[in-house]
Amino acid sequence: MKLYDTKRRKIVEIIAQTPGVLKIYACGPTVYRDAHVGNMRTFLLTDLIKRLAQYQGLKVELIQNITDVGHMADDAGLGGVDEGQADTEDRILVQAGKESIDALTIARKYEESFHKDLALLNIQPATQYPRASESIELMIELIAKLIAKNHAYVSQDGSVLFDAKSFPTYGQISGNKLDELKPGYRFVGKEDSNKKFHADWALWKKSSESRTQLTWQTPWGVGYPGWHIECSAMSLKFLGNKIDIHTGGIDLRFPHHEDERAQSNAASETEVVNYWIHGEHLLFEGRKMSKSSGNVLLVSDVVQKNLDPLAIRLSLMEHRYRSQMDLTWNSINASHKTLNRLREKMQIWSNKEGKIDENYLKQFESALDEDLDTNKGLQILRTLEKDESVSDGNKYQTILKFDEILGLNLTAKPENKKEIILTKEIETLLAQREIARNEKNWQKSDEIRDQLAQLGVGVKDSNNGQEVTPL
Ligand code: AMP
Ligand code: ZN
Repeated sequence: MKLYDTKRRKIVEIIAQTPGVLKIYACGPTVYRDAHVGNMRTFLLTDLIKRLAQYQGLKVELIQNITDVGHMADDAGLGGVDEGQADTEDRILVQAGKESIDALTIARKYEESFHKDLALLNIQPATQYPRASESIELMIELIAKLIAKNHAYVSQDGSVLFDAKSFPTYGQISGNKLDELKPGYRFVGKEDSNKKFHADWALWKKSSESRTQLTWQTPWGVGYPGWHIECSAMSLKFLGNKIDIHTGGIDLRFPHHEDERAQSNAASETEVVNYWIHGEHLLFEGRKMSKSSGNVLLVSDVVQKNLDPLAIRLSLMEHRYRSQMDLTWNSINASHKTLNRLREKMQIWSNKEGKIDENYLKQFESALDEDLDTNKGLQILRTLEKDESVSDGNKYQTILKFDEILGLNLTAKPENKKEIILTKEIETLLAQREIARNEKNWQKSDEIRDQLAQLGVGVKDSNNGQEVTPL
């Protein structure tokens, strides 16, 4: 498959470094609130890559972390970006304060919702979901290694900082150059006297006395990890130093991924991640989807409206991952109807003999291989649906194959397709009506039809005899 690699700035052929195995690391959720559909768009990107790789016969090792400490407030309307914050601005701690429960209870609660939402969107589970709070030892080891290799230093206040200038290729993912990074741009507010250079960032932060939760003892005192070191530590531990693909939303390009790359490469003395794949952001009803702007759509909001959550998945796939897209209630409603229509047809077609239409399958596969063009893939599906030159049985088999990647559960029962349970009473009435019709006793036949209607059974007369439908 081909994907757009942010670092190389072009579409490249993805080649697994370990034969037969594709290793993917995906930045996971910060579990201080329910993930919104924007977050889910990024998680769906990883799922599509995973499904496509599996479809092509690769085994996928996917690690997705759970950030339950160290991610500082930025879009929660609390000011600042992710550096130089007061202790209490750890997102999990802020939420724990609001809900008056302890931090890890908050984290586990939202972690559980995250897994539920993934399942509702048919996103296949990762191989493992390591938690940051349970990987502290790994981070301490990694930080010690970076200090030993002169890539990090202990600052005056007892934090540990990465020495940005010690890593000459800093900036290759985002295109940001160290020299051009002015204090105050990303490095909140005033220059920090603890830093040798204003672009240095914290690997480990010394904790203030007011912080009573989510702190750990280290050789450098009591503190807590920086967000970026978490992903370096967990990715190196679970996938080693030859990772094929790293995914995340476009906002993570800088500083999160840039800093992660510097840390992982400096510690391993090799280019750890081969391809950096980023998904563009999702808007909702024309505005940025974020908690701070109050413009958030949750998977549960869609479920509450009795809409199929896979309508979200379908709507998201109408756009390629690399273009910004605006999701609307109209598009979710339309996708809900489309899903139902396709499922109804699949149910009818499933009774017919058939085989895969290789021509359509090839078109579909090349659309997805070519930088995950899901929009084109769905257009091919619609053309096939209407193509009268392809038999119903062949449509069924071919669309079944498409669905391995699309993940739309197209063989699920369509909505409102109540099944008629043919009780003895109904069967007898149908048999009596059949006799009445053969005898051309239309009055009796109509009377029996009314009786059947009372039982919720509709009858239509066709060349094949009586056809029953639920009323
Ligand atoms: P967070 O839970 O904030 O750590 O974010 C989880 C993932 O969602 C990250 O990869 C973000 O880049 C991504 N993300 C955040 N907002 C959006 C959005 N509006 N559209 C798409 N992805 C997003
Ligand atoms: Zn990350």
